Amino acid sequence: MRQSKDDYQTLREAVRALCAQFPDAYFREIDQQRGYPEAFVSALTEAGWLAALIPEEYGGSGLGLTEASVIMEEINRCGGNSGACHGQMYNMGTLLRHGSERQKRDYLPRIASGELRLQSMAVTEPTTGSDTTRIKTRAVRRGDHYRVSGQKVWISRVQHSDLMILLARTTPLEQTSRRSEGMSLFLIDLREAVGRGLSVQPIANMVNHETNELFFDELEVPAENLIGEEGQGFRYLLDGLNAERALIAAECIGDGRWFIERVAEYGRERQVFGRPIAQNQGVQFPIARAHVNLEAASLMRFEACARFDARQSCGAEANMAKLLAADASWEAANVCLQFHGGFGFACEYDVERKFRETRLYQVAPISTNLILAYVAEHVLGLPRSF
Ligand SMILES: Cc1cc2nc3c(=O)[nH]c(=O)nc-3n(C[C@H](O)[C@H](O)[C@H](O)COP(=O)(O)OP(=O)(O)OC[C@H]3O[C@@H](n4cnc5c(N)ncnc54)[C@H](O)[C@@H]3O)c2cc1C
Repeated sequence: MRQSKDDYQTLREAVRALCAQFPDAYFREIDQQRGYPEAFVSALTEAGWLAALIPEEYGGSGLGLTEASVIMEEINRCGGNSGACHGQMYNMGTLLRHGSERQKRDYLPRIASGELRLQSMAVTEPTTGSDTTRIKTRAVRRGDHYRVSGQKVWISRVQHSDLMILLARTTPLEQTSRRSEGMSLFLIDLREAVGRGLSVQPIANMVNHETNELFFDELEVPAENLIGEEGQGFRYLLDGLNAERALIAAECIGDGRWFIERVAEYGRERQVFGRPIAQNQGVQFPIARAHVNLEAASLMRFEACARFDARQSCGAEANMAKLLAADASWEAANVCLQFHGGFGFACEYDVERKFRETRLYQVAPISTNLILAYVAEHVLGLPRSF
């Protein structure tokens, strides 16, 4: 039987209790300083929330994707931004599913405890963008190690990670029979790599999101850091994307709930023309519509998570949940900003900060158009468009 959101009240309350220690002013100040919410991420780690998806035998709490999604939703619903740390929750999935037993025993318990942060995944490149199979970063085997050269862009949380997963070509595209072949995943130890073949250039951006350009110049990577089989990296990457999409959908839903709660509260209190602004149908209908769309997105999120947890195929549901949730949170963001009038633009109301944060999800980690292309091709059987 499918779970509904009400089955997770205890979990929601526990996450909310932690988030209550980090009020709006904390995140506002971090945003204005362009800082990293270190105290918040440490508290989440110590409470074990970021290790939700790591099995108990490796030191995590072995929860399902459904529970993990509720954790992310609540963080964003409380006014925080899971984007600062969500990678720690799902990037390890690649190691868990495809790493060797030695890699899992070596890394997962330390990731679960927070001793090691695996918050980064380097896929996107400046010259190829969404066309991932054409990436140019190359890893060439030389005896007991690989040498990596190339460039990545928009790689998040590198400055707050010890480890990073890297997608690189190990067989040139022209030597493969299918373009999805010949790419491999590596575990990069950033503590050793930075300054010794890897340089990191931060990218100033619209959101307070720590993201970077990476330059690889003959970086030496031990062959034992290859994840799974050489040449299978793209397949492994796709395996992890459904979980990522469902979790991002949950973050959008959390954002959306924050926007609706704030605008409803403001609309009840703000008096103009002698009555609360939310008494006007022109104000309450857009809020109600945003709420309806958010609830629908949330159901699709639960459907995607339930299928993932039951080990059923969930590509269609995870993609649709991400699209619906990103659209619903963006609609709620616009409604919230609009009905705060001028105050929506004042930093002290936090609406403009959350507005910027939720806008990102129309583009990253996958853009809306690419999801529609997936649904068109893989769900509806329409001709491949690229
Ligand atoms: C803040 C931030 C953090 C990020 N973090 C990471 C990270 O940690 N790791 C990582 O690997 N990447 C990361 N990314 C990159 C992100 O995944 C990409 O920006 C996203 O996938 C879009 O790729 P692109 O920017 O190259 O856009 P492009 O591929 O250049 O596309 C530009 C626009 O054109 C549209 N478009 C392109 N081709 C088509 C088509 N065939 N049909 C219809 N529309 C099309 C796209 O939908 C998009 O809107 C991050 C990006 C941002 C902004």
